[in-house]
Amino acid sequence: EEGMNAQDLGKLLHREPAEIVKKLFMLGVMTNQNQSLDKDTIELLAAEYGINAEQKVHEDISDIDTIYEKQIEASKNSKNLVDRPPVVTIMGHVDHGKTTLLDRLRHTHISAHEAGGITQKIGAYQVRLDDRLITFLDTPGHAAFSNMRARGAEVTDIVVLVVAADDGVMPQTIEAIDHAKSANVPIIVAINKMDVPGANPQHVTEQLMKYNLIPEDYGGDTIYVNISAKTGENVDDLLQMILLQSDVMELKADPKQKAIGTVIEARLSRGRGSVADILVQEGTLHVGDPIVVGNTFGRVRTMTNDRGRQVKKATPSMPVEITGLNDVPESADKLVVFDDEKTARSVGEERAQQALQRQRENVTHVTLDNLFDTM
Ligand code: GDP
Ligand code: MG
Repeated sequence: EEGMNAQDLGKLLHREPAEIVKKLFMLGVMTNQNQSLDKDTIELLAAEYGINAEQKVHEDISDIDTIYEKQIEASKNSKNLVDRPPVVTIMGHVDHGKTTLLDRLRHTHISAHEAGGITQKIGAYQVRLDDRLITFLDTPGHAAFSNMRARGAEVTDIVVLVVAADDGVMPQTIEAIDHAKSANVPIIVAINKMDVPGANPQHVTEQLMKYNLIPEDYGGDTIYVNISAKTGENVDDLLQMILLQSDVMELKADPKQKAIGTVIEARLSRGRGSVADILVQEGTLHVGDPIVVGNTFGRVRTMTNDRGRQVKKATPSMPVEITGLNDVPESADKLVVFDDEKTARSVGEERAQQALQRQRENVTHVTLDNLFDTM
């Protein structure tokens, strides 16, 4: 494969490009990460990793990251694009009201308006305003957001930054702003606790303007909403503003292509086996689909929505709990669909094998490092 370089090979072999360059150096080939390599060199390297280059280098179907990315690309030029609900993460300083807001949304905007009762805890849920849906990730806080991002999972479209009107900008407020900005995700400011006597939204706004969150009144384009998560004051307005922001972003997806998604949370359930909360991002996921999720595989056996109802299919931005995987994937793992179960199985098994091998190699490296340290 003329044109492949250490970076491509690293991706293919699930190794850091620097490691590939180093390995090649050990094999007597001087190269950098971008220089394209000839067939012999590639085969030499592949053999070093115990892989048959002929079968491997051409098409690596076990590289689900690439399959996932291709699906994202494919959707951009699709003729079947439809609007999809925005996916929202709530962030902010501790005690500023993130959980209270999530709880209020879950209870007032789901169970009151729709039959089906209390929502399940499935890592995310959808709220309806008029005839439109908004998906909220149910793990407030920054660790979940950064973990997702660190693993290349960019699932959040909009961040709602909760700032208590009686406390103002605090360290984690700033941290949240940094996270959202580096992820290039727009922020909607929700100034919370407006029911508290000492509430001073003007002061909070002035503080936030220093971080370039300029409200429209001051010539900027950041949406501000004053709310009380406790009393519910203006919470509908907040939802309205989220929808407005999402209209500006023109969030679309192609429900007709093969489904891809990301794991929000996963666990082992007694009786049901591996259970994974998946956010579907493109396409439509069906019961029975052969899937690979991270290093696990299977067929979608059951799908449950956020109201605890069994569903047969899940469309973009919809969170569902699925069963049917052979093992428990990790949060931020990607889901892709294959044509048949046999392929899904072999890809899943190969990925699990590769993960195990990487783990062993890491252990070896650590041991060697320790050895050198003591010398
Ligand atoms: P989190 O740490 O950001 O998740 O904050 P919580 O949702 O746990 O809220 C912290 C405290 O603030 C709790 O005692 C809430 O009841 C209270 N709280 C949250 N929102 C409001 C609000 O709008 N008004 C008032 N008065 N209290 C609130
Ligand atoms: Mg909380």
